[in-house]
Amino acid sequence: MADSFWVETLGCPKNQVDSDKLTGTMLADGLVPAARPDEADVVVVNTCAFIEAARQESIETVLALSDARRPGARLVVTGCMAERYGSELAEALPEADAVSGFGVPVTLRTRDEVPSLDLLNLPRPPSAAPWAYVKVAEGCDRHCGFCAIPSFRGRQRSRTVESILDEVDALDVQEVVLVAQDLASYGRDVGAAGSIIPLVHAVAERVPRVRLLYLYPSELDDRLVDTICATGVPYFDLSLQHVAKGLLRRMRRWGDGARFLERIAAIRRREPDAAFRSSFIVGYPGETEDDHDQLLRFVEDAHLDWAGFFAFSPEEGTYAVDLDGQVPDGLVVERLAELSELQDRITAERRVALIGRRIDVLVDSTGVARSHREAPEIDGVVSVPTSWPVGSFMPATVFSAAGPDLEAA
Ligand code: SF4
Repeated sequence: MADSFWVETLGCPKNQVDSDKLTGTMLADGLVPAARPDEADVVVVNTCAFIEAARQESIETVLALSDARRPGARLVVTGCMAERYGSELAEALPEADAVSGFGVPVTLRTRDEVPSLDLLNLPRPPSAAPWAYVKVAEGCDRHCGFCAIPSFRGRQRSRTVESILDEVDALDVQEVVLVAQDLASYGRDVGAAGSIIPLVHAVAERVPRVRLLYLYPSELDDRLVDTICATGVPYFDLSLQHVAKGLLRRMRRWGDGARFLERIAAIRRREPDAAFRSSFIVGYPGETEDDHDQLLRFVEDAHLDWAGFFAFSPEEGTYAVDLDGQVPDGLVVERLAELSELQDRITAERRVALIGRRIDVLVDSTGVARSHREAPEIDGVVSVPTSWPVGSFMPATVFSAAGPDLEAA
């Protein structure tokens, strides 16, 4: 009987794509999926190394799966932690049979060091849901002060349009969510800055919905805004991180609150139904009370549909790790709570404002759907009648709202 496998994924949507590709290679190698981790012959943990809490969760997951695996099963640790800490991690985790960077065949049986390569162009199995992430580039050429990603994911490498479109065709889904570390810069590494625009057009010709995640704000020009609006999914995931100008420069990032507000207002004038998401770092070294107040004011004024707030985590090898002006943990917790409370209220208000509105939803699973305003796995959902067929688009009218979620029929 063929060996069976289990893949456990931690971290962000980009990691989910890698896991799909690992699954694709194992299926191509003749392995079969196991129903449960303790029944698999090969257990793969795709780790996340983004911040300390994510690393901790990754290690705990490795240890738990090591305990749970059946005798003789191989345990393979891959993903960002493996890439970033390689041999150090292998030493610290004798439980693992292999610790390998991205793209390493996970069926390998030894702990020998193996070369790593991109998973980007590997095939993946059909999506179980009517939507799927598609990663269009790997790595990042920016140098944000807090971010270790470029140090272990490397410089940006964009895929060819053909390989992306082949993947989109093979996935055969109703919604494609394009992701990359710095999505709007797709193509710049091959001398084709701005090629995100023809790419979005090409994907939109193939699938009813295309959604873009992680847009660096300086790259969001009128052409890209028009392109996004023309797809019928006016959803803008702006990677803002903060709004206080001095602090943003300390983060080695572009922009300031006034520019961001201007841009958001211009998009809303062009498309009143546009939905916005952003994420912010709280407690970056040097963040003053005034910086924090600026962020609070911005959140109030911008009235984003969705926002995430994350505590700064000093990451080895980053510019910010040694910066002075570290913000005490207690203060960071207070600031996070204040911001989250404010945003929860705004999100709830924006959801209530949709009551009575007609929306088009894609039914993701029985009774659960999303309109253009909700990115899968990240935002709220729309509860719909359980009789509506999974994978279909349905017109619906919103009749109630509870926190981030809506009910429609
Ligand atoms: S844009 Fe900045 S935060 Fe995003 S991956 Fe690149 S360096 Fe990190």
